[in-house]
Amino acid sequence: MPQTKSHEVHGTGVRGEAAAALFLTVAGRAFPSCTQVTLSHGICDSQCLSCPIGRVRHGDATEEVLREFRPGTRVFMSFEVFARVADEVAQHPEAWLRMHARGEPLLHPRFVDMVRYAKEARVSVVQSFTDAISLEENRAREILEAGLDVLECSIHGHHRSYEKLMRNGRFEQVRANVIRFRELRDALGAPTRLVVSAVDQPEFRPEKADHRRFWQDYADEVIYRPHHSWGNRIDGACASLPATRAPCAQLWTRLTVGPTGNVLACFNSWSEAPEEVLGNVLDPHTTLASIWRSSAYSAIRSGQLEGNYILPCCRSCKDWGGSSWGDDSYENLIDQKLGLRR
Ligand code: SF4
Ligand code: SF4
Repeated sequence: MPQTKSHEVHGTGVRGEAAAALFLTVAGRAFPSCTQVTLSHGICDSQCLSCPIGRVRHGDATEEVLREFRPGTRVFMSFEVFARVADEVAQHPEAWLRMHARGEPLLHPRFVDMVRYAKEARVSVVQSFTDAISLEENRAREILEAGLDVLECSIHGHHRSYEKLMRNGRFEQVRANVIRFRELRDALGAPTRLVVSAVDQPEFRPEKADHRRFWQDYADEVIYRPHHSWGNRIDGACASLPATRAPCAQLWTRLTVGPTGNVLACFNSWSEAPEEVLGNVLDPHTTLASIWRSSAYSAIRSGQLEGNYILPCCRSCKDWGGSSWGDDSYENLIDQKLGLRR
């Protein structure tokens, strides 16, 4: 985050200006740098220790998380909602679209159609995550041919730690799928960038160096994500935080769209409580841009700077500590390290 801003933004009488000053770019004031779409809400084929969805599948989630994912709540995003989002993101060349939030994107039955639609609509960067279990050869070929810009494979562990942390029993299959994806990418001459990532959690650290050594031969970038708590849904994450609470980059860089089109200021609004829903993309009078620039959203940002957390999910959240600005941001990865959006 921009260190020089921290003392100003916690002072009084500078809320509006200080909040405006935190946008990373001029374009970022008009439209979120990243719009995240929740393609597969609560649907995944892994059981990650570091993720509430994985915990639900494995049977060790908290009562609160189990209530959030009670039967009937796990849904795929409709193509109509997705297309509305992609069409608007495409109007902003500096903006990118992230296929993720709360589930495994490749399990969406229309994932490839969605990537193709977004690229044909001219979204500048379409990025997705996957646990790579379903990244078999035909699927990999379709994804590459659809024009996905960045595929980030979540491989939270290596020989000894993978199964403890992802609990899906597919380590060898995942490794083979990701290596073949790289080979296919090169054979087809596709522009898709391959990122391998892991959550930097205690059980993984003894194998972190081996993980990097192995994957740097195949991936364009290997990155490690902070062990965050998903809004206090995972105990013990985010153990060390700076003494002074910093503004959270989410509010200046991201919008999240839930599976039914609800627009959320943060990926942590999993239950989409009414006070955290800023609009719906199916409302003909609503746009993502109007929500991003609304007085309601400005108040949420300004409130963050003086410790008035308007969004309930922000009040006891610790994930601001892993919310990256500047050199550590995903924007920097896309632009500088992967060479996109130039
Ligand atoms: S692969 Fe992703 S969505 Fe699935 S359980 Fe793991 S962290 Fe959660
Ligand atoms: S402080 Fe937490 S809940 Fe609030 S915007 Fe940041 S990550 Fe989301």
